[in-house]
Amino acid sequence: MFAKEIIDLRSDTVTKPTEEMLEAIRHAELGDDVFEEDATVNKLERIAAETMGKEAALLVTSGTQANLISLMTNANRGDLIILESQSHIYWYEVGGISAIAGLLPWPLKSLTGSLDPEEVEAAIRPQNIHFPKPSLLCLENTHNRHGGTIITPNQIKAVSAVAHKNNLKVYLDGARIFNAAVALNVNLKEFTKHVDNLMFCLSKGLCCPVGSLLVGNQEFIRRARKLRKILGGGMRQAGIIAAPGIVALESMIERLKEDHLNARHLAEGISKIDGIRVNLSRVQTNMVYFSIEGLALTADQFISKLKENNILALALSENRIRMVTHKGIERKHVEKTITTIETISH
Ligand SMILES: *Cc1c(COP(=O)(O)O)cnc(C)c1O
Repeated sequence: MFAKEIIDLRSDTVTKPTEEMLEAIRHAELGDDVFEEDATVNKLERIAAETMGKEAALLVTSGTQANLISLMTNANRGDLIILESQSHIYWYEVGGISAIAGLLPWPLKSLTGSLDPEEVEAAIRPQNIHFPKPSLLCLENTHNRHGGTIITPNQIKAVSAVAHKNNLKVYLDGARIFNAAVALNVNLKEFTKHVDNLMFCLSKGLCCPVGSLLVGNQEFIRRARKLRKILGGGMRQAGIIAAPGIVALESMIERLKEDHLNARHLAEGISKIDGIRVNLSRVQTNMVYFSIEGLALTADQFISKLKENNILALALSENRIRMVTHKGIERKHVEKTITTIETISH
């Protein structure tokens, strides 16, 4: 008997390291990274900084840790932070922005994740004894809860100009910034040149087992390194984490295009099924969000029926489902998913 193949569309975080990554781990030159003596970590940080067009970078344990360190580095306790109301920092990071960083999140709504510069400007109130100090604007690209949507370099430029004019720093949660760059076929630096600092994840579509990178100027990274330590993120022979990261940055980026083609194929396929609604204009990278409002099933029932057919997806609300394509998802898996959804929808 063969084990049943599972089609796991819950997230691109389920990707496993490639053979080449495992080989790179086996041969990585290691040292104690708290002493900044791990040659493999140092090399990854150098490549990350160069790729993003910034001075320096820092390997951290997760995207959540990267965001928390960045909030604490860019702002002081009690400051006001402007972010998008559906952003990952606001929704999915256990409230660390308040619980640990002691900051006041100031969420602004948007249609697809891209903030309106005029609304940002209006949120930056003039100085007054009653008001907290606004110190940071956070952007997210691609935008997860809006469907993996892209914020274009021009949109980043416009909104950052407003922030900078008012002495706010700009931080980019670029967990999936490579997806945005590959989808628009533009250089990473087009997305990063208008922001002060950013993070990206190795552990999602790039297939690494662990890790994210914070990128910014020397002073930002020096302070971030200290905060990483206070948060328990100082690692020792972290080259075993950095080695697959180097492989990822050198060889796994262009591959993301396949994930985007598969997501598009999946979205178009299921959009033809009665009772399923997909906003195809939002399917810009490797995510497919859809509504099953027109079916006589709750999201939980829909997910269980998929699971009976060895397909995994996430329910985001009573009738909203998310599917994410990644290296483990090939065209045949997409086809099987479409036909399975057809069957369980009747
Ligand atoms: C996944 C994700 C994070 C957090 O990364 P973890 O490594 O899961 O902590 C942050 N921001 C966005 C937009 C993400 O999608």
